Amino acid sequence: MRRNVSLVLICFIYVGLESSLVAAAAQTTSDAKNYPWSPDVPCKLNPAKPEGLYPAAYSNLRGLMVAHRVTQGINHSPERGNVHDTDGTVNGKAYTGAVDISVRCLTQAQIRTLLARLAAAGFAAWYRKDGQDGWSGPPHIHAIWAGCRLKSVLQQQVESWLDGTNGLGSNRPYQFWQASAEMKDKVSKLYRSFNWGPRGHRVKKKGSKCAADSD
Ligand SMILES: [Zn+2]
Repeated sequence: MRRNVSLVLICFIYVGLESSLVAAAAQTTSDAKNYPWSPDVPCKLNPAKPEGLYPAAYSNLRGLMVAHRVTQGINHSPERGNVHDTDGTVNGKAYTGAVDISVRCLTQAQIRTLLARLAAAGFAAWYRKDGQDGWSGPPHIHAIWAGCRLKSVLQQQVESWLDGTNGLGSNRPYQFWQASAEMKDKVSKLYRSFNWGPRGHRVKKKGSKCAADSD
């Protein structure tokens, strides 16, 4: 009798193990389908460089399974056109809300999907491609986390994104993709709560403090 009980137990454990393996495999397949940029999809990428990125931005990128593709967080280079310098401090450390994301191995359609997912999570993001929008350089996504105090140049970029323009000097309509009204609403609310004063004006002074991380 005792022996039977242990056999049944072993059987249960086996079935449990088997089904969790099947579930894990199914999960991987659905992740690959829903997140074609995820680490489960083979693609030779450089090591991630998320240093100095605002913590809530980073955790949101992890949730979107794209954190391993971050190629740039904070950058103190005085080079003209660098918008990744300090936006403020959080937990005593300098941060930026700007992040660059590798688009290696992704199709144009997948990049559009990624821009949409980023927007739905609270990022204003554009695909930068050599020769497009009067921009030159290696292809990547330039995104700005709207949920923290931003310096003036990034505030201007977020507002440009909300207007459907490219966030560059030309400030022309962005051709590659457009966010839905719902996505714009999400980014706008987040952005205003951290960057607009009580009288509905943009806070122009560089932030030295950011409120606690939101989601
Ligand atoms: Zn960038």
